[in-house]
Amino acid sequence: MRAPTAFASALIALAASAAQPLGAHARHQAAATEPAKVHKVEKVAENVYCIFGQGGNIGLIVTSRHAMLIDDQFERLVPGLLEAVRSVTDKPIKYLINTHAHPDHVGGNVVLEKQVSAIIAHTNVRQRMATEQAKLEPAKRGGLPELALGSEDAKEQARLNIHLDGTEVHLLHMGPGHTDGDVIVGLPSALVMHMGDLFFLGMLPYIDTGSGGSFDGLVSQVSSVAAWIPDGARIIPGHGPVCGKKELLRYRDFLQAVQAHAKARPGRNVAALAASFDQAAWPEWKPRTEFVTWETLFSAATGKGPGRVTRP
Ligand SMILES: [Zn+2]
Repeated sequence: MRAPTAFASALIALAASAAQPLGAHARHQAAATEPAKVHKVEKVAENVYCIFGQGGNIGLIVTSRHAMLIDDQFERLVPGLLEAVRSVTDKPIKYLINTHAHPDHVGGNVVLEKQVSAIIAHTNVRQRMATEQAKLEPAKRGGLPELALGSEDAKEQARLNIHLDGTEVHLLHMGPGHTDGDVIVGLPSALVMHMGDLFFLGMLPYIDTGSGGSFDGLVSQVSSVAAWIPDGARIIPGHGPVCGKKELLRYRDFLQAVQAHAKARPGRNVAALAASFDQAAWPEWKPRTEFVTWETLFSAATGKGPGRVTRP
């Protein structure tokens, strides 16, 4: 694939207020009206922030006249999210970008669409959200991306450049990876990238094969970004702490090691693959019994099953 050189070179649990003996009904009401204090803001670069809460990491870009959000976690957390944004800037949020369609990244869309000019995402994000929303009663639907880049063929690469008040932001879809609608968001002037769930740090990566994700695609995307990312770049992963090129190179090596291990042992079942893999060599990526385990990672890597633990 062609390296995106321009980009490269420039580049709650609703803390259930246990203090008060509220009944279940009252607690429900409180949860619906009080902003949840779960967010933490970290400055990543000049005018760029990462907001941690529950679910995927949120990016916040501030220009001379506007703000831009990358992902928005859950609907119920939007009041707290907006409070976190306001702790940094009082400028209006013009664009909301979704890195992919998972609910912990797009859940706030339904509320935020009322105040942003546009929600922007890959075509397959809009498609998947529309399919999910068709199951809901009409009053609960909303927040679909209005501007969609790329085609339904996830293998087709796509790019969109946003120019907002002199700040350039690049959206890049490189193919199937975590899902079939991932975009990497790059801010060349600040050397910052939000990689969405193409990058997990601290826990084993989830590849949503049921939503068009591809382990080999993920490895190739991460390898490609690792090859052109500038040395001083800062990276916001979908999950985990803000990091840099060093961690991304480690992540690439880790994914390539998993891939090589699986490919060298064709026909071996995922339990055997997981047991024979040198897990201790990669302490940055820990299994979570209720989410992604070594077995489910190898099931995604071998194309044998979903990349996460599923409940019957
Ligand atoms: Zn995700």
